[in-house]
Formats: sequence, C-alpha cells, structure tokens
Amino acid sequence: MTKFPFLDLRDTVAPYRDEIVAAITDVVDSGRFVGGPVCRAFEEELAALVGVPYCVGVSNGLDALRLIFRAYIELGRLRPGDDVIVPANTYIASVLAVTDMGLNPVFVEPDARTLNLDWQLVEDALTERTRALLTVHLYGRVAWDADVAARLRQRGILLIEDNAQAIGAVSKEGIATGALGDAAAFSFYPTKNIGAMGDAGAVTTPHRELAEMVRALANYGSDRRYHNIVEGYNCRLDPIQAAVLRVRLAHIEEENEHRKTLARIYLDEIRNPAVTLPLGGDNTVWHQFVVQVDDRDAFTKYLDDNSIGWDIHYAVPPHRQPCYSRYAYLRLPVTDHIADTVVSLPIGASTTPDDARAIADIVNRYQDAPK
Ligand SMILES: *Cc1c(COP(=O)(O)O)cnc(C)c1O
Repeated sequence: MTKFPFLDLRDTVAPYRDEIVAAITDVVDSGRFVGGPVCRAFEEELAALVGVPYCVGVSNGLDALRLIFRAYIELGRLRPGDDVIVPANTYIASVLAVTDMGLNPVFVEPDARTLNLDWQLVEDALTERTRALLTVHLYGRVAWDADVAARLRQRGILLIEDNAQAIGAVSKEGIATGALGDAAAFSFYPTKNIGAMGDAGAVTTPHRELAEMVRALANYGSDRRYHNIVEGYNCRLDPIQAAVLRVRLAHIEEENEHRKTLARIYLDEIRNPAVTLPLGGDNTVWHQFVVQVDDRDAFTKYLDDNSIGWDIHYAVPPHRQPCYSRYAYLRLPVTDHIADTVVSLPIGASTTPDDARAIADIVNRYQDAPK
C-alpha cells in the first residue's frame, strides 16, 4: 500500500457520507429521476456561487463545452470552420469540443511559468477568422488577462472558459472563474475539486439567450414539451448527481482551503534545485500541484521507492495524440517540454498537512543524476 496515496476517491466523500446518503435517499423517494427541483436547486446554487444569472446542469464537462459551441452556432455567432483559439497545453477534452463542432482549433503556447495561456501570444495569433477563444484554468490557476480579454471582446470574439479544474477560483479583479467570459463549462468528474458520484457538468453564462439554447440542446432541442427548435441531444444532469453536488458545493470553501494549505506547505518547504515549483499566489485553487523535473523517470521512481503517489497531467498533449495526427506538424516546443517534465504531487482529500510536510522532506532528499 502506498503510504501517501495520490488520491483515494473514498476520501473525497468520507466527511459528507451521511449527508450524501440522505440526499440520495430523498431523490429515491421523490420518484423524480431526470431533471426536477433538485437539479434546479443545484443550478441556482452554482449560479449564486459563480455570480452569474444563468446555470444549466448537464451530463459532463465535455458535453458542457460542446453545448456552448453548438449553441453559439445555432445562435449564428459561430459557423463551422471558424477559428477558435485554444491553449496547446490542456486536457484533450477542451480541444475535442472545438473539433466536434466543426470548428478549427488554433493552438497557442503556454507561458512557461504559469503553464497556462500566454496572452501575448493570444494577441499575436489573432486574425480576421478568429471568432472565439477558449481559455482553460488548468490545474486550478486562473488563466485570464482582463486587458487582452477586453480587446478581444471589442473585436466581437467570444470568450469561453473551460472551468473544469478551477471551481471557486477568483481572478485578480475579484471575479470568479465561470463569470469571466460569455460562457463557462464545469466538470464534476469525481476527481475534480467538487466531484459527483459519476459524471456531471454545468454551463454558466450571463446571457439568457445562450442559457436557453444550451438547455434546449441538452434536452433533444426542445424549448417546451414535444416542440423541437433545433436538432438536439440528451445531455441532461440527473437529480442523484445534483443531490450529491449540492452537498459537496456547500463545503467548497473548506475543500479549496485544504488544497491551499497543502500547496503552501509544498511551496514553503520544498527546496530542491532539481525540482521546479509552480508559481504561488492566491490566484489558484490547486486542482493539481504540478512540479517539473528534467529526469522524470528517475524522479517518479524515487517517489515510488518512497511510497508517494504521483500522476502526470498530461504526458501527451492534444496535438501529439493519434486522433489529431493532422496537427502533429505543429511546432509547440513549450507545450512539448511541459508534457515531458510535469509531475503532480498529492494535493487532494487523501493528503493531510503532516503528509505534505513528510512528502516535502522526502522530495528535498531527491538527487538527480549528475549532468
Ligand atoms: C475534466 C476536464 C474536462 C472534461 O470533463 P468531463 O466531465 O470529464 O467530461 C474538460 N476540460 C478539462 C480541462 C478537464 O480537466
């Protein structure tokens, strides 16, 4: 058994087990198993947390992104073939949503320190064909530049957030992720900062028209019963997941505070020239704590030998995936270097502050091979 596991999902729900079982039991007894008041209550609570008027609960994070792009196509704001700026360093789901809707991803390299979109390069990448930008708050770090965003907005470019990893984060300007742009996608995959007990997601937006189109698209394209305005899907949130999420959402402050505490310990106590630490600051809710090392195989073997769980987010960037061989010609050296050097240390519910101190101590004793 690993002494310091990366994440055991049982630990994420253990503190709330009784509340979750009671909430699920209420759904079981309600006889309402798709949609209904529990879903609506969750949507209202998430909208209030984010600070937007509209929220639509959906089936998962990828569908949330797909629905946003499809809704903008139905609303005439995007057309298949339009260019959408996406970060090259992201989880593949961000890009899948773009290409699935027939849109053209324009990959922009990250800032080597934040590992998130380089906004200077965003401006350099703009052309007449740029119609939208998808920013991803990767690892829980807010990926937003208010000045550049304002200039993009002036040009009529849609600003969409992939907020799968940063629920509860707040920008420098004091605006929550999910409320920064025109629309945002959330994922409640069980490993996310707020996780369901299965798949779930949501869309938040300040625009009523978009919210209504997303809700219709997620429900066979119907705006009312047996009246289909567009050719839709079935991408609805179910009330059992909504019930679980209402419990989890009520504790989001403690959850993110726990991650910040662990991150502070790592940042204060890890001192090893072979291990590059992530940037600090309050601008992140630490979905992952990602360090960089030159010799990853040696470092992860050392972690294994010392019973420390680890993971890699992500070893193969989207443009290197077999399904995207059409983008393999792109030269994205910063993204490639990140993919080759990142290692995620434990920062979730399975890790205590004492564990983090012990892990920091062990990491400090790691020596990479002499060059
Ligand atoms: C998890 C994740 C998604 C996809 O969410 P699912 O609910 O798993 O479909 C999309 N983008 C990012 C950045 C993610 O981390």
